[in-house]
Amino acid sequence: MAVETARKVGPVVMLGPPGAGKGTQAKKMAEHYGIPQISTGDLLREHVRRGTELGIKAKAIMERGELVPDELLYGMVADRLREPDCRPGFILDGFPRTAAQAGWLDAFLEKELFDKSEKCPPVVIQLNVDYTQLLLRLTGRRSCPTCGTIYNIHFQPPRVNELCDLDGSKLVQRNDDRQEVITGRLAAYEAQTKPLAEYYQARGRLVGLNADRDVEEIMAEIFGILDSHAAK
Ligand code: AMP
Repeated sequence: MAVETARKVGPVVMLGPPGAGKGTQAKKMAEHYGIPQISTGDLLREHVRRGTELGIKAKAIMERGELVPDELLYGMVADRLREPDCRPGFILDGFPRTAAQAGWLDAFLEKELFDKSEKCPPVVIQLNVDYTQLLLRLTGRRSCPTCGTIYNIHFQPPRVNELCDLDGSKLVQRNDDRQEVITGRLAAYEAQTKPLAEYYQARGRLVGLNADRDVEEIMAEIFGILDSHAAK
């Protein structure tokens, strides 16, 4: 699919439980529109890998499947959103996850990124998935440590068992995709993130879609939503 470089899409927020396919869809959107995908989970895992102060604080919390405290994230997210590649738009994947984070994001966008003539609130896309599907998606998820391609041993297995189709690297499972951690992550979603849908609904920004479908079908629907938004 052709890349539509620097198309004015504005901020997009992907909402949905862990395993709903936010990362998969966000990567496709990033490629299609030429804007960055910003995953707070990926940024945090990078801090953990590098052993930064933030990484050390976040590691144990993430291993338990709980949410990292809001105030630890804001500096990291602000720094990333101030980078020039975010000017035409960006896709937030995994942020905001609490009502406080959503309020912080609105204030940040208002204050720092958009002048009055170009005010642009986020489009919020909520991926809705059946609970048993989610469990299969999470327990089956594997990714390539080299190129980041995501597979699922139940739904989208690699051609050769456990090896990346693109570069042959041995696929890995995220630590927090283990069965015992998943329950905690889903509970955190139900209690803290699900109410966010109401926050955005009340502001007329929420678009919900059925994500129990083929990846390409969902992608086409999302492109349609964003194209009509960008044309406004
Ligand atoms: P993810 O890759 O989005 O599933 O995130 C992995 C883990 O990183 C989560 O289970 C949380 O511990 C942490 N995390 C990522 N994004 C956030 C956020 N917006 N707020 C709090 N914790 C987060």
